[in-house]
Amino acid sequence: MRKQSITVVGLGPMGRAMAGTFLAGGHPVTVWNRTRSRADDLVARGATLAATPAEALSAGEFVVLSLTDLDAMYAVLGSATDALPGRTLVNLSSDTPDKARAAATWAAGHGARYLTGGVSVPPTGIGSQDSVTFYSGPKSVFEDSREVLEVLTSTDYRGEDPGLAALYYQLQMGVFWTTSLAFLHSLAVAEAHGIKAEELLPYVSETARTMPDFFGFYAPRIDAGEHPGDVDRLAMGVASVDHVVQTSKDAGVDASLPEAVLAIFERGITAGHADDSFSSLIESFRKPTTS
Ligand code: NDP
Repeated sequence: MRKQSITVVGLGPMGRAMAGTFLAGGHPVTVWNRTRSRADDLVARGATLAATPAEALSAGEFVVLSLTDLDAMYAVLGSATDALPGRTLVNLSSDTPDKARAAATWAAGHGARYLTGGVSVPPTGIGSQDSVTFYSGPKSVFEDSREVLEVLTSTDYRGEDPGLAALYYQLQMGVFWTTSLAFLHSLAVAEAHGIKAEELLPYVSETARTMPDFFGFYAPRIDAGEHPGDVDRLAMGVASVDHVVQTSKDAGVDASLPEAVLAIFERGITAGHADDSFSSLIESFRKPTTS
């Protein structure tokens, strides 16, 4: 049976991995990219390079967008709206939940069926069922698209609200980027002491590996609004973070990252949480309630 034709718009590292995976799976693939040369390898492997976004959309019903953000989507598809009716657009470009909702409304207004996606793996994870992508939007569109989407990764449908996939994605990225910077900061401090990244790697990896246990311990307490200082006290936490700041400064390493953490801990102390757990700091992040 002939496999479904796929159009991939956007050929950064992610779009190239996706188009290559569809080609390897036997799908006819049409691609378009602002910088045409990024399509060379895919064309050599059998992809068709469309001359314009409108031509790319017209090549098939199923369209995957892999662009830097949603402004890029409007820049690319704004001139091709006549080709949108009847297309299924699966937008795997990162952006905020609010912008994802606006994009879904825009696409529906032009007659397209639309899903938001959030890919939670790097390009090397595309093509593996161990990888997961969040999706949200109309359930019927997701169900109709599922088989093709599972060529890329396994799927996790979050609900009808088109903002949900973007939200789940951004929630992961918040953890990912702050953790990755903490990793780089620790490596810089280690390096200042003559310790190479490869040498420190098993130790920071072990710390990261224990984080799910830590999250699992605190999540039910946070849901219950309970922050007892039975295991950790914020007064201990603020001293501990200050030690991280001082260790960084003593080594001559930029301490702005742990200093930002310290400022948040100090806010908790000022708010009277010295005897509570560090988890009470969630109060300082929360949206103020209007009474
Ligand atoms: P890149 O930013 O490297 O490339 C995205 C594509 O967007 C390129 O094809 C680029 O075109 C195009 N683009 C950007 N702005 C415009 C514009 N104004 N007009 C036309 N085209 C534009 O991103 P990636 O390929 O790395 O990722 C794609 C999406 O996937 C992003 O939203 C990213 O956040 C997300 N993602 C990426 C991961 C990764 O590890 N790479 C992991 C998980 C998600 P051109 O080639 O001409 O510059």
